[in-house]
Amino acid sequence: DQDQEKSQEYLDELEFLAFTAGAQVLKRFVQRMEMPNSKTFIGSGKMEEVRVFVEENEIGTAVFDDELSPAQQKNIERILKCKIIDRTNLILDIFAQRAQTSYARTQVELAQYEYLLPRLAGMWTHLERQRGGIGMRGPGETEIETDRRIVRDRISLLKAKLAKIDKQMAVQRGNRGSLVRVALIGYTNVGKSTLMNVISKSDVFAENKLFATLDTTVRKVVIGNLPFLLSDTVGFIRKLPTQLVESFKSTLDEVREADLLLHVVDISHASFEDHIRSVNSILDEIDSADKPVLMVFNKIDAYKPEVIDEDDLVTVPTKAHYTLEDWKQTWMNTMEQDAIFISALNKENLEEFRKTVYKKVREIHVTRFPYNN
Ligand code: GDP
Repeated sequence: DQDQEKSQEYLDELEFLAFTAGAQVLKRFVQRMEMPNSKTFIGSGKMEEVRVFVEENEIGTAVFDDELSPAQQKNIERILKCKIIDRTNLILDIFAQRAQTSYARTQVELAQYEYLLPRLAGMWTHLERQRGGIGMRGPGETEIETDRRIVRDRISLLKAKLAKIDKQMAVQRGNRGSLVRVALIGYTNVGKSTLMNVISKSDVFAENKLFATLDTTVRKVVIGNLPFLLSDTVGFIRKLPTQLVESFKSTLDEVREADLLLHVVDISHASFEDHIRSVNSILDEIDSADKPVLMVFNKIDAYKPEVIDEDDLVTVPTKAHYTLEDWKQTWMNTMEQDAIFISALNKENLEEFRKTVYKKVREIHVTRFPYNN
């Protein structure tokens, strides 16, 4: 059923994240609950199942799809006796591995400290319990407070550093003059970097992993004598840790200041409509929901609708059965023609894509320089 499909898909994504971080996934466990267990997140029966598997296969790490409370993390660690990572932790890890500029590194470090801060006390309680015994005085409140202060100081320092870089970047953006700004946006792994390469003939790092792009890349592009700026921003992802949303807000300035958004969608992904909704809600959060958008449906080469056998009189067609043509009609209507279907990889319909971008950029350009045209 639908819930089950959703949870499989979330786990697919989590597995892909784990793979991106360098892990190999051996088994998945799913449990359906009204509410997560406040102490151990999953129930005791399921936990025992996991524990046996971890022990028998000498598993090093267990990954949970939701953010665990510091206490839950500790409790589970004690039962499973392996490293416990939650979704936030995993994402922070990937960001940390991939941050290329000092700006991105500072942002990740800040997010990591913010994740750590509420977990400090838990770490101490854990140690204390391990030491146990009378006469073995565990670290008391003062030590926890000292540590918290160190982390808080570090957080303020990083924030100040970021504010300074932000200011420099704002100046740089200001210096770019009045060229039309186009931003590639979209869920992670939909093909933004690939498309950036296609348009600007540059070589932006593209690979089949999540978050290949951490830093914004801005390129000057010229189509038919019309120059404009094209930026490729960090991939949007479902349940992006709040610490990251905060620290990556300035990365999103590029989106906030864009004149035109190219919203890239991976139409071959079963839940691309969910992805569109996730991206739109982030746009809403950064007050950019009313910018002009061109929907770019990518990976048409990989799109495969479900087919119903002619003799099958029972199955009711759903969106999963839509042909590309059906999707085209749907989205051309919704977007009042501002939708295009391409394959960046197979270079299908790219000429049409260029022309459409050119037309949209030109419309904006003309309103900006009414006397030059
Ligand atoms: P980004 O995270 O949105 O920047 O996505 P990338 O540009 O890094 O692409 C993610 C993966 O999708 C890479 O493996 C690309 O080769 C692949 N990809 C990009 N465009 C297409 C396409 O049109 N068709 C197919 N089948 N794969 C594509």
